[in-house]
Amino acid sequence: MNNITFAIIKPDAVKNRNTGKIYDRIISAGFEIKSAKLLRMTQSQAEGFYAVHKERPFFGELTEFMSSGPCMVLALQKENAVEEWRKTIGATNPEEAENGTIRKDFATNIQENAVHGSDSDENAKKEIGFFFSDSELIANN
Ligand code: UDP
Ligand code: MG
Repeated sequence: MNNITFAIIKPDAVKNRNTGKIYDRIISAGFEIKSAKLLRMTQSQAEGFYAVHKERPFFGELTEFMSSGPCMVLALQKENAVEEWRKTIGATNPEEAENGTIRKDFATNIQENAVHGSDSDENAKKEIGFFFSDSELIANN
């Protein structure tokens, strides 16, 4: 699964009516959507998803934000998907994100930063498995 990554259009972006614009960026950047769904996380689901950050001072606020409204979860395919998607979204802090990146254009601040992207192939696989069953992923054929 090296050519697949996991993305979230976060609650701020859905609320701010940016879902369609971000879909357009995904497609223009050459990603193929292998699965997508709209859902609202419970806070405990958000805590599970972001468990690596549980000792960080922003964990409570982050999981509250991530469960504050609907978000769109997606599995995206492209050659070198993890790195390519991280490039497309830009730096965590929108003030440091490059021009033309999704976070530069749609993030509100370092927390409400519009989108998520996996940071490794291993985590992409885990994160896809957190939200999708194998049968929900469109097969390559
Ligand atoms: N975050 C935050 N405050 C910070 C750093 C991160 O609220 O000082 C949030 C932000 O929504 C970020 C998420 O926690 O996207 C996960 O942080 P990470 O460092 O993994 O950044 P990412 O991989 O999303 O760029
Ligand atoms: Mg991260």
